[in-house]
Amino acid sequence: MTDQHPSTPATAHTSGLSPRTHVVAAGRPRRAPGASLNPPVTFTSTYIADGPVNYARVDNPTWTPFEEAVGGLEGGDALLYSSGMAAVAAVLALVPRGGVVVAPAAAYNGVVVSLTEAARAGLLEVRWVDIADAAGVRAALPGADLVWLESPTNPLLDLADLPGLTAAAHEVGALVAVDNTFATPLLQRPLESGADVVVHSATKYLSGHSDVILGLTVTGDDERGRELRTRLARHRTLGGAIAGPMEAWLALRGLRTLSLRLERACDNATELAQRLADHPRVSRVRYPGWGAIVSIEVAGATDGAAEAEALAAGTRLWSNSTSLGGVESQLERRRRQPGEPEAVPVNLVRLSVGVEDVDDLWRDLEQSLAALG
Ligand SMILES: *Cc1c(COP(=O)(O)O)cnc(C)c1O
Repeated sequence: MTDQHPSTPATAHTSGLSPRTHVVAAGRPRRAPGASLNPPVTFTSTYIADGPVNYARVDNPTWTPFEEAVGGLEGGDALLYSSGMAAVAAVLALVPRGGVVVAPAAAYNGVVVSLTEAARAGLLEVRWVDIADAAGVRAALPGADLVWLESPTNPLLDLADLPGLTAAAHEVGALVAVDNTFATPLLQRPLESGADVVVHSATKYLSGHSDVILGLTVTGDDERGRELRTRLARHRTLGGAIAGPMEAWLALRGLRTLSLRLERACDNATELAQRLADHPRVSRVRYPGWGAIVSIEVAGATDGAAEAEALAAGTRLWSNSTSLGGVESQLERRRRQPGEPEAVPVNLVRLSVGVEDVDDLWRDLEQSLAALG
């Protein structure tokens, strides 16, 4: 192994095209008579000497088309990892020892647990904030090294003022990372708001079929972005959290329909959020008005936790399973997950709305709600 860095994308540029077209057209092999329309899957651990890369922990040509496609959507350079949490770990490793991280108290639970354990081990200091309270976030900024933003948050669906908080963080010299898993680059592009690095769990909407675990970082195309990308790539190479070529290929295949999937899922979510708000068993609906995740609180005899659990267990079409962002609708009482922040109500059920017929989805929720008595 050497200091080599992943090669820069070689396939055709699709700049100037709509993102809806980009997801279909990006990351294709060069057109030549007889060339394949889709990129091949390269199963190899090593390469013949004297090429640009000598070992497949550094780079694999199967990663490149997916990285290029997602990088183009976010407006930066993407690096693919073995999971969303591997991408999170690479970004947290940018924080110097003893550094200060400002993060949402109700961020994705893997991020909350990672930061909590790093703080307990004395590696860094965390200042937990309510990401929707811009004044509170600003008050926590002085001395910060990294500001972690997630918007909408998982699963409370709180929204952060990304451009405002990013500018404020930069004033104190902090790096800004944005977990863009829920929004996807079709709905929100944090690099355009000034963020330094975007993080994705590509397990979710980007791949979209609940069949792979993958993650990405995306950094800007300026000097600061390139310097960060070099450090992140080095972390990936040395940490070894790399994607399998088959998973990378499946993710690109899933990405082709991102725009169609998201459009249908968002329409379904908007409709279901309205119907749920009128249901007597639902005490609160959290839906920011866009995206395809809806969180509801279930009314119950005591705290509603048992009823929320029964709602999730009683559906036939929706699957009672963790994760989100696939074509198939899923729901889950989030507090059944160890490590879920206490800010998440015990009776909260997160619905990841898929692309099925909205009336079928509604009837299934209705029958499960009705069975609560
Ligand atoms: C799922 C998720 C992650 C972690 O990604 P994995 O692919 O499961 O490792 C990070 N952030 C958010 C918002 C997520 O939903």
